[in-house]
Amino acid sequence: MVPLLDVNAQNLPLEAELTAAFTRVLRSGQFIMGPEVEALERECAAMTGAAHGIGVSSGTDAILLALMALGIGPGDEVLVPTFTFFATAGCVSRTGATPVFVDADPETFNIDVAKAADKITPRTRAIIPVHLFGQCADMDAVMALAAEHSLFVIEDGAQAIGATWKGRGAGSIGHFGTFSFFPSKNLGGFGDGGLLVTSDDALADRARLLRTHGSRPKYYHRLVGGNFRLDPLQAALLRVKLPHYPEYTRKRQANAAFYTEKLSEFASGPHPALILPKSIPENKHIWNQFTLRVPGPGRRDALKAHLAKAGIGCEIYYPVTMDQQECFAHTPENSRSHCDTAHQLAAEVISIPIFPELTSQQLEEVVSALRGFVD
Ligand SMILES: *Cc1c(COP(=O)(O)O)cnc(C)c1O
Repeated sequence: MVPLLDVNAQNLPLEAELTAAFTRVLRSGQFIMGPEVEALERECAAMTGAAHGIGVSSGTDAILLALMALGIGPGDEVLVPTFTFFATAGCVSRTGATPVFVDADPETFNIDVAKAADKITPRTRAIIPVHLFGQCADMDAVMALAAEHSLFVIEDGAQAIGATWKGRGAGSIGHFGTFSFFPSKNLGGFGDGGLLVTSDDALADRARLLRTHGSRPKYYHRLVGGNFRLDPLQAALLRVKLPHYPEYTRKRQANAAFYTEKLSEFASGPHPALILPKSIPENKHIWNQFTLRVPGPGRRDALKAHLAKAGIGCEIYYPVTMDQQECFAHTPENSRSHCDTAHQLAAEVISIPIFPELTSQQLEEVVSALRGFVD
């Protein structure tokens, strides 16, 4: 038995420290904002290299708040990868703007920036590259496109806090970077939580204002915002895990290296049974997921059934692309077109256990189950 993720294996060794953090907040009596939230904001912003960190209620709300702070709304178009988690596109729709879906790069699974260029119209205001599975999108290409067309850039780094692109922290390159502390993310919390980062003082101020109903001072509302706050309790617990984060990442990277070595024999030749995920050398990939492609009709689903039978956890991230979602069926045709690579990925991908606490025996078990399928 190897689960896809084992949160207890990471959290329970920290039980004494986590309990102490809980007690500290309990006794402080402060349950909204305050020093724990501010400390986490500073510590996380420092990790990404951005000047400001803004703790928020979830990774989804981080994206929504970034869009609101940039004034994105009805009549605007926002470029998003079609191969992503729903939040990236859903937040665009919630502002009243139109998500414009862009195909994926087959090797990194990230947004295909050349194809994004084809979808620019006079209404395009922003682009949201997603650093999928823990590896940065091609930020040189994204920033060049944005400069050429005066677009805002929001990096959806929900799966990539601490990753880098040519030495620069994920989330620190665009106007905003957004992160999630959902338990399955690399810096996994104890419920929902998220973070927004920016190095622009004015944008940071606007996001902070919108985080608490746009009021300053209290009960005087300059803007229509929302309640997008992060709990001090969540912040205090996350701060216990933060010093261990580099070690978690090293272990994920070691696990990825192990799989890459052991599986490469099945991933070579003109008709490989498996296609391994590619890490671009100049990226620091933090491996939120280790995602294989299984080419051939029905092969991916056959592998999924095989792994289930062998007691190996796995998941399909993602089986349906954004342009194929029912809720986006009324999005204009040109905003949904030309996503063929992403459709193929949705049919071929499968993610296998990569969490830091995997034992060497569990890693061997995963490899031998895969070998049993391929042979
Ligand atoms: C998890 C995730 C989100 C949303 O984060 P939540 O904290 O669950 O709201 C957004 N984008 C991507 C790419 C994600 O993986």
